[in-house]
Amino acid sequence: MEEKRIMVTRSSLPPFDEYVKAISPLWDSAWITNMGENHKRLEKELAGYLGTSDISLFVNGHMALEMCIQTMGLKGEVITTPFTFVSTTHSIVRNNLKPVFCDIKRDDYTMDPEKIEELITEKTEAIIPVHVYGHPCDTDRIEEIAKKHGLKVIYDAAHFFGVKYKGRKAGSFGDASMFSFHATKVYNTIEGGAIATDDEKLITEMNKLKDFGIKNEEEIDGIGANAKMNEFCAVMGLCNLKYVDENIRKRKSVFERYSERLSEIEGVTIDHYNSDTEPNYAYFPVIFDETLFGATRDEVYDILAEHNIYSRKYFYPLINEVECYRDILEHGNTENAKWVSERVLTLPMYASLEKEDVDRICDIITEIKSRG
Ligand SMILES: *Cc1c(COP(=O)(O)O)cnc(C)c1O
Repeated sequence: MEEKRIMVTRSSLPPFDEYVKAISPLWDSAWITNMGENHKRLEKELAGYLGTSDISLFVNGHMALEMCIQTMGLKGEVITTPFTFVSTTHSIVRNNLKPVFCDIKRDDYTMDPEKIEELITEKTEAIIPVHVYGHPCDTDRIEEIAKKHGLKVIYDAAHFFGVKYKGRKAGSFGDASMFSFHATKVYNTIEGGAIATDDEKLITEMNKLKDFGIKNEEEIDGIGANAKMNEFCAVMGLCNLKYVDENIRKRKSVFERYSERLSEIEGVTIDHYNSDTEPNYAYFPVIFDETLFGATRDEVYDILAEHNIYSRKYFYPLINEVECYRDILEHGNTENAKWVSERVLTLPMYASLEKEDVDRICDIITEIKSRG
């Protein structure tokens, strides 16, 4: 008999009837995009949830980041991390900026602030760190460096929805934070994204640029694009927002079961959160150290797949090693990022993942270990 298929993630959906009921007024108004009623309501609710004075919604997280960078009018160089999804780097390069890679810390995979200053040149204008897997960056230290050198900070907070750090909500750090509401994230609007910021002017400009730069019916004063969120996605967002805290609690149980089962295995390093963090349990990254564990990350990946369990080598390869950047971007000294990238595997993690399924995954990993 074929073993039950387990994917790395499974999208959260509200109860079917609830969504249907919420979209039915759209058939009366026939206003299905262009900053409709649901769009406005979602912006307001999310601003409260993320702890920011304002939100601009987008068609997806990538366009949100790309247009935020464009709106800030950055030029020259941006310090960022190679240990991320390729979107972070694309959004920099597509704005004709040069990404400069800073190494990460091995314990929480976020940018190592002690290595930022050596990368600053007279061309540096911003830092774009990533709250990887929902781990908060060292925001205090990054803020301090940014202030000292007059740099903007935009957080790629695609993994950070619902996290609280040092008592502050997820959208309250830096000059701006980008959130992704893609189907695979902790919170989704099917596809979607947002910029959270307290900068009113930035919001006004972004709102214009995401709608072709249209100021009013006869004036177009920005070279924009189309990156608006439609009403069906906004409604999905309003429905899903009601369940996100409950889903995070369910994710916590999954996290705890994995931790119980895997933390004692030699050569396996599981994820830890520091005591300042109220996590969202977005991912379950595990480091497999071959010398102690007896198998490589790739072997674990393959064996899980043979059992119909699909983990992800997330993030591998590093951005500076993918084909489109390999020959044009320098690695710099990013040895921790390389080390992690070669050993990390993110295991299946989602709210409805059952304890028995977590146990089956852990049984297989335990079995690989005993084989040596
Ligand atoms: C998902 C993700 C993005 C892009 O968001 P989309 O909504 O898919 O466009 C950017 N950065 C990181 C780190 C992500 O995980």
